[in-house]
Amino acid sequence: MSLKMVYGFSEGNAKMKALLGGKGANLAEMTRSGLPVPHGFTITTEASHDFFQMGNRMKDDLLAQIQSALTRLESDTGQRFGDADNALLVSVRSGSVTSMPGMMDTILNLGLNDDTVQGLAALTGNERFAYDCYRRLIQMFGSIVLGVESYHFESLLHKMKKNTGAKLDQDVTSEGWRNLVDEYKSCIKMKTGREFPQQVHEQLKMAVEAVFKSWNNNRAQIYRKINHIPDDQGTAVNVQRMVFGNKGDDCGTGVVFTRNPSNGDNELFGEYLVNAQGEDVVAGVRTPYPIDTLKVAMPEIYEQLAQVCKLLERHYKDMQDIEFTVENGKLYVLQTRTGKRNAQAAMKLAVDFVKEGIISREEALQRIEASHLDQLLHRGIDESKVLELLATGLPASPGAAIGVAAFDADTAAEWNRTGKQVILIRPETTPEDIHGVLASEGVLTSRGGMTSHAAVVARGMGKPCVCGCEGVRIDLEARRMIAGDRIIGEGEWVTLDGASGRVILGAIPLQDAAATTELLQILEWADEIRKLRVYANADNPVDAQTARSFGAEGIGLCRTEHMFFAPSRLTVMQRMIMADTTDERKAALAQLLPMQQSDFEGIFQAMDGFSVTIRLLDPPLHEFLPKASELQRKLDDTDSIEEKALLAQMIRKVHSLHESNPMLGLRGCRLGILYPEIYDMQIEAIFNAAASCMDRGVSVIPEIMIPLVGHASELERLRKRVDRVAGQVMQARACNYKVGTMIEVPRAALTARQIAAHADFFSFGTNDLTQMTFGYSRDDAEGKFLTQYLDQKVLQHNPFQALDTEGVGQLIGMAVAAGRSLKPALKTGICGEHGGEKASIAFCHEIGLDYVSCSPFRIPMARIAAAQAEIEQIHRSEL
Ligand code: PEP
Ligand code: MG
Repeated sequence: MSLKMVYGFSEGNAKMKALLGGKGANLAEMTRSGLPVPHGFTITTEASHDFFQMGNRMKDDLLAQIQSALTRLESDTGQRFGDADNALLVSVRSGSVTSMPGMMDTILNLGLNDDTVQGLAALTGNERFAYDCYRRLIQMFGSIVLGVESYHFESLLHKMKKNTGAKLDQDVTSEGWRNLVDEYKSCIKMKTGREFPQQVHEQLKMAVEAVFKSWNNNRAQIYRKINHIPDDQGTAVNVQRMVFGNKGDDCGTGVVFTRNPSNGDNELFGEYLVNAQGEDVVAGVRTPYPIDTLKVAMPEIYEQLAQVCKLLERHYKDMQDIEFTVENGKLYVLQTRTGKRNAQAAMKLAVDFVKEGIISREEALQRIEASHLDQLLHRGIDESKVLELLATGLPASPGAAIGVAAFDADTAAEWNRTGKQVILIRPETTPEDIHGVLASEGVLTSRGGMTSHAAVVARGMGKPCVCGCEGVRIDLEARRMIAGDRIIGEGEWVTLDGASGRVILGAIPLQDAAATTELLQILEWADEIRKLRVYANADNPVDAQTARSFGAEGIGLCRTEHMFFAPSRLTVMQRMIMADTTDERKAALAQLLPMQQSDFEGIFQAMDGFSVTIRLLDPPLHEFLPKASELQRKLDDTDSIEEKALLAQMIRKVHSLHESNPMLGLRGCRLGILYPEIYDMQIEAIFNAAASCMDRGVSVIPEIMIPLVGHASELERLRKRVDRVAGQVMQARACNYKVGTMIEVPRAALTARQIAAHADFFSFGTNDLTQMTFGYSRDDAEGKFLTQYLDQKVLQHNPFQALDTEGVGQLIGMAVAAGRSLKPALKTGICGEHGGEKASIAFCHEIGLDYVSCSPFRIPMARIAAAQAEIEQIHRSEL
């Protein structure tokens, strides 16, 4: 028996997403639920694999299955494909497993030819409508299937409208469309040397092939890469009876979200156009009406639509994004999918669905995405700095952005590469602009609604976007934007506020947003569930305070070197490094001591009651000195003999500290062993600060962390120094302190049991551990070969972003087990960048670490990711 590669909508269901694609599975599920879905069938993703394998050709068996599905469709609809008296027209749409909005191709009105168009005109008594459909088909077929660039069609349309005096599409007469059909056909003949096919079955075959092929078009490939969608998923193709929203004024088409995707409010949200086809709404060519006005325009349809929305939302237990069409007063649902939402809405929806009893807390937590939190915690503009409002458009995707105006996607991408912040400004965007959207801080369009391409893509990427901003005129030729009497040229600064739709002149300072009550609720649920503690990487009292306000339960990494970079401190630090004798060095250190101490006091204060892990000096000393070339320039420029001598001495020192491979050189605990007075000063500052805070009633839990240990004896020696200085400073006072080490060197992981003998805790420094396990220097790798490695799929992920669980993770697992075999209560955590990354957090949870530590803004995300990891583990154990 041959493999079934074509399913009627009534044969599938929501669970068959991998085979039928998201759209196909949903259409099947809706059909099963008795919703008014136009009939059709789905060609499976497996068929697309075959198609690619056969060198972009369909098997005969597949063609036969399509033919029999078509015959069934004819009998279901009572129409016939290619029959001039009662023509069946179909749409052919892509349907990937993971939603890729607008990235692949769709062809509508298939089945029209010179005969059936006349039949359609006669049947509907509307010749204008019939030829409008026909010209749309030829245009889509011409560009998508036959590869004629769409601007040829656009310019013919534009010319025809100009010649006939039609301003809008609605103003075009049937004669106008008829003539345009002829011109389109000639254009195709001229550009491709072949006729637009009149044979409807040939149309269908070519269209299906083109949709399969669109899986591999440029924009789809880029989208997959950004969204980590596997290339081998393939796409399904949906063939569906056309219903028409452009047959007259009792027709229309629109997009509705069951709740507001910008703020989560429980109200229908969307837009529609009367007498129009679907792509008019999505393409943003005409600015649609808000869905609310449908209540007045077509009250019964609105009621039905509201019912459908409720039903679908309950069925899928999530907010839906629904495409609908009204054909001569009858509502059809064309598509439903989980609605994309921004951060604020995601939180509110999750909380509301729990309150409404639709989902559980666990399900709510699992729906929260890291990108949502990033968005929620980084936005808003400093209102007091707004001087000139240029215009206000639709608030399509919230968040604020500043950047210089770029009027095309290539310029935006190019400028972004040179480090500029860019705002992409276009009359409207198309999927071809995706690289420009990606490269920009925010997007502004003068046309199109809240569901236009720019809005959907920007929301998905969490980028601020203002759409349909009719108050600005974008002059692409002169590369400028005109708002009132203000002209903004390319390269000038503008600010977007995607939450209010405002476009503001200049670069307005941005402000972080405060957490919403819904986020706080979600975090509370996360805290009840998670097992991992969440600490912060923070090096100063302000960050420590911020971290605490985000829910940090301690500090997992305080990089003390950051305290030396303030100009007033740097000179003292440099003096310490330049010292020729231990006494000179000690004198400089004595000056640094109170500075460190006051920082530690601030941090202990902010973390009252929580542990604070302080890492002793880690980087190589030359990082605190200027570059030799810079010193040489200064030396050449100065006339002062004294200064010359000092600069020459510094140059000598810089040369003497030079290392061929500083990452593996004199740094970390090696410094502490060679220059013990540096660490002594730091330890003294820590305990002085602890004592002074304790005097003020602050509960202090210092944890002194020794970096870059590779051999147990390194830690053994340095631990002794910590204990000795602690004893000297604290005298008889009890201080609940710990001494531990970072595990950043593979040897440390391999000899963890020996190292644990001297450690109260292990903190995995996965930045260095990744560098040393792979043998990549991160700065070189990211700039030199890692991008190509990822492009060529040598590696699946950047190991500096997502923990390499297989290799680096194995070392961590071994080290934890070995350490605990000696000391079961050994505290373990992670403080590299991975501590704030979802998949890495899940791994830390699985292997039973006690905590993760990450930068303050990532803490809310880490709290949620830790809860998600626990929920998933429970689910797995229940299976
Ligand atoms: C690490 O190596 O993971 C770490 C946290 O230390 P740093 O990034 O400061 O080298
Ligand atoms: Mg490190």
